[in-house]
Amino acid sequence: MIQTDVLILGSGIGGLSTAIQIARQRPDLKITVLTKTNEGESNTRYAQGGVAAVWNEEVDSYEKHEEDTLDAGDGLCDVDIVKIVVKEGPERVREIIDWGARFDKNPKAEYDLGREGGHSENRILHYKDLTGWEIQRTLMAKADEFSNIEVLEHYFAVDIITQHHLGYMVTRLMPDIECYGAYALNKQTGEIEKLLAKVTVIATGGAGQIYRATTNPVIASGDGIAMVYRAKGWVENMEFVQFHPTALYNPAGENPVFLVSEAVRGYGGILKNRNGEEFMHKYDERKSFGSRDIVARAIDNEMKLSGDECMFLDCRHLNKEGFTAHFPTIYEKCMSIGIDPMKDMIPVVPACHYMCGGIKVDEMGRSNIQQLYACGECTCTGLHGANRLASNSLLEAMVFAKRIAEDILPKLIIFLSRIVFPIGMRRVRPTPRKWY
Ligand SMILES: Cc1cc2nc3c(=O)[nH]c(=O)nc-3n(C[C@H](O)[C@H](O)[C@H](O)COP(=O)(O)OP(=O)(O)OC[C@H]3O[C@@H](n4cnc5c(N)ncnc54)[C@H](O)[C@@H]3O)c2cc1C
Repeated sequence: MIQTDVLILGSGIGGLSTAIQIARQRPDLKITVLTKTNEGESNTRYAQGGVAAVWNEEVDSYEKHEEDTLDAGDGLCDVDIVKIVVKEGPERVREIIDWGARFDKNPKAEYDLGREGGHSENRILHYKDLTGWEIQRTLMAKADEFSNIEVLEHYFAVDIITQHHLGYMVTRLMPDIECYGAYALNKQTGEIEKLLAKVTVIATGGAGQIYRATTNPVIASGDGIAMVYRAKGWVENMEFVQFHPTALYNPAGENPVFLVSEAVRGYGGILKNRNGEEFMHKYDERKSFGSRDIVARAIDNEMKLSGDECMFLDCRHLNKEGFTAHFPTIYEKCMSIGIDPMKDMIPVVPACHYMCGGIKVDEMGRSNIQQLYACGECTCTGLHGANRLASNSLLEAMVFAKRIAEDILPKLIIFLSRIVFPIGMRRVRPTPRKWY
């Protein structure tokens, strides 16, 4: 059995940011991060496009970023959450830069802000087409600086522990379900271990692997969402699954499929059919710049109408030097399957990319289960509504990690008393947390 103060399930941007935000304020707390493969393997690691944040206030504004987010979300975003994330986002981005993240700059030494579908301004900070890799690298290095963060690799969390495991009846309508930690399979020993914690944070990422074609790595199997559901916690909006319009079509079959970032369209790539004809004007006045759901549906429709197995992204008119500098990984990947983006159109298909729904959390990342928080793609914060605006998810994870830390820290002493007086012995029942 392992006892810890804060147990975090997942070592992507949600998990590691939360660990760092807590550790930097409270070196006395023991923080244990579990990850089911190695620390660096996550959806975060594969993010290409970047992080959206209002950076150049001469042309951009919080209002514009909010409007773009609400527009992409199709009227189903929580406006207050959108305002929080957009407003607090730039500070979190500055913080991760301070921690060592390198984002690309232009010759004037200003950040080279990219633009992606659905954004009305250039506001995407990026590191080549490897932004996620850079962020994962930065967070792992930063977490290493804190001796009170312990990362346990190859620990597969199986279930969170609640009163149910003490023999009590737990139902979805109970206001005072409590979380005491998690059971996890230690993959090296084959044993199930009990991890008791004063606070547990689920940051297990999305669920793309439930689809045949997905850009998500194999770790993205929705484990945290399922754990909370099984524990009778609240899960919301699982029907809103975002399909990325432009995954690389590889007839040989690949899992995960390779993503051709939206930034390629932002850079000038144009969607065309096999005959080299544009089609996006039939679906949206922004053409190739429409939001993801519109472009993905348009490609799907064109594939059905033509019977073709894919559509194409035409980059042949773009400057090779600029393209390879911005998109080295995409260029290399295309070349590896015999497609030269400077001579051939890149074949693309939509693929499952992002889970907009998940564990229902409030504005501080609290789930409806007490002592249980969630951060990152496994959550439904209300930011994305029916459809996520490109590059808003890394931002969301950073903003909520900070908020979770702020909410947890003053409470730890109270949580401690709950562990000392377990169920049945407790003198005062916890007051049900205000829930919307
Ligand atoms: C190809 C690709 C490109 C993307 N591009 C962008 C982009 O440009 N901008 C943007 O904002 N977003 C982008 N996204 C989305 C973004 O990367 C993710 O939403 C975000 O990284 C999720 O972070 P997370 O910390 O919530 O989850 P992840 O980064 O997926 O981390 C989940 C962690 O949980 C662990 N885990 C899972 N289950 C268990 C378990 N049972 N037990 C223990 N550990 C477990 C995993 O091992 C992993 O460490 C992209 C996603 C993909 C796949």
